[in-house]
Amino acid sequence: MGNHSKFCQSCGMPLKKDPAAGGTNSDQTKSHKFCSYCYQNGEFTYKGNDVYAFQDFCKNKMIESGNSKFLSWIFTRGMSRLERWKK
Ligand SMILES: [Zn+2]
Repeated sequence: MGNHSKFCQSCGMPLKKDPAAGGTNSDQTKSHKFCSYCYQNGEFTYKGNDVYAFQDFCKNKMIESGNSKFLSWIFTRGMSRLERWKK
């Protein structure tokens, strides 16, 4: 697999679903680890470091954009296992 992960290591979104095909590093290269929603110019767009707060944040965003509560739960439930949140 190398450095390419299939899922954003911050929010868990499949990277192939990212319209920008990945976030951007500080040198403007593409990140193959984080999606464009989470990671811009080498920085996380969400600055907190509490995975559960971020989980809620993503869940609400998903529900706001018309997804069911069930789907948003499915999408966010594995988040604490992702690389960004590993302790
Ligand atoms: Zn993401």
